[in-house]
Amino acid sequence: MSTGKLPPAADGLQLNFCKTLACRNFGLSDEKYYLLQDSDPSRPGLVCRECGAFPPLLNNQGVIEELSRLKQQDSGNLAACNTEGCEAFDKPVLTHREHYHAFGYSGERQRYRCKHCQATFVDKWSNANPKLDIQQRLLGLLFTGHPVREICRKLHINPKTFYDHLEQIAARCRNKLASVDARFLQLAKENPLASALTTLQPRSDNGVMWLTTGDAEHGYVLLQNINYSSDEEKPEDIEDVYAENARLMPDNFNHFTDSFESNPEGLLNQVNEKYKEVLSRSNVEDLYTRPIHVDYPSKGCLIRPQYAAYAQYLRLKELTEGWGDLKVYLPQEPLLRSAIISVFKDRLQEKQCHPIYVVQNAQWLEHDSAGSIDIMLLSWWRDRWAFTQKGQAAKAICHLGKESGSEAEWLQQATTTALEDYQDRFHLHFRSLIDEPRRRLRPGGLLPLLDIFRAWNNLCHQNSEGVTPAQALGLARHPYTLANLLA
Ligand SMILES: [Zn+2]
Ligand SMILES: [Zn+2]
Repeated sequence: MSTGKLPPAADGLQLNFCKTLACRNFGLSDEKYYLLQDSDPSRPGLVCRECGAFPPLLNNQGVIEELSRLKQQDSGNLAACNTEGCEAFDKPVLTHREHYHAFGYSGERQRYRCKHCQATFVDKWSNANPKLDIQQRLLGLLFTGHPVREICRKLHINPKTFYDHLEQIAARCRNKLASVDARFLQLAKENPLASALTTLQPRSDNGVMWLTTGDAEHGYVLLQNINYSSDEEKPEDIEDVYAENARLMPDNFNHFTDSFESNPEGLLNQVNEKYKEVLSRSNVEDLYTRPIHVDYPSKGCLIRPQYAAYAQYLRLKELTEGWGDLKVYLPQEPLLRSAIISVFKDRLQEKQCHPIYVVQNAQWLEHDSAGSIDIMLLSWWRDRWAFTQKGQAAKAICHLGKESGSEAEWLQQATTTALEDYQDRFHLHFRSLIDEPRRRLRPGGLLPLLDIFRAWNNLCHQNSEGVTPAQALGLARHPYTLANLLA
């Protein structure tokens, strides 16, 4: 229940404040700057007394929980000290070598000792993969679009064994990626990033969105997560943002009856149409608070998308601590805007963070220079957009920090295409698995596939010049084969 106060900070994190950069209250979390109301759930809980903005409330503890879930998924299976409270706790050997001594072997596997607490542990991925042969064949079949049923038949395994293999392959892939990711964070400091957001299974209305962030130019994917948890249960009741399980989505949607797809002509209309859709949400950061059809997954629990997005950008913040300027290109989506602005508020105020919306039509040629530029202030937020047009090709950008002066440069450089292509390729490669009728309401089985695909994309997938994203960034000397991934 609300107490007329902001949701309490968690681990020093307080994300409830005015998110209008030019406002005096930007980033301030003192209740006196806001009107708080909780009697009418259809109205915003927080209104800025200075600028009238109505940022939705967030449960800070819920964001922290989602962040630790994300970290657990990314590095939970890497060899690391597991003594709680130890300085090296949870710091993988692969990326934090300085905390450990090599300490003999256990069978073929490397053993380590923590320098701080003296605990010893074994790196279970340090031996040669005894299942290399079958897993390589399995991956080969999977990447060539064979349905699970057929793969099982060809390899004489049952579906349970298939998914066990998939889990193990995913774990090896995460292990391979951990050290390459660390090099990425060292070497790609100057590079712009991009995010892309789409549904995990385009033919299923199961409510699972998939957010990815990576190198905008070469498409090296650094972070990805989905707003779904396979080992939590959906809450029965709708609860407010102060409740303990505020981040979990109940099966309660404002289903629409007659669907209307409007496909407005021209980029300006498209951008305006998007703002209209956004304002039809009762919570502008939550895509599921407008009339929408959702078939809730039959197992597990949907996470409110804002918790997944804030968690990913908090992770990005931790990882890019040592970076200078941070440029992030985004699709026009206030969920991502709010998450970035909130998480990077200090760097935004120091003008070291540049979130930029990018919208372009299919005719636009990547990296083409801008023609003449029209500036327009759009929507309730008075967002400052720059539009350009070249024949049929059109593109628009909007610096969310309201900086100006470099529009031509941003119009030429800003792009989210590499990340969108990554997601499209995933949908294409694994169409038969993603669209399996039984799979539509069971997204959990796709989780290992996401890790495998990220590894394949970064290390194996070659562009038209035969170069992988990792090679293009100087993180690898040659493309990896599937066997290299699994070794
Ligand atoms: Zn304000
Ligand atoms: Zn330790």
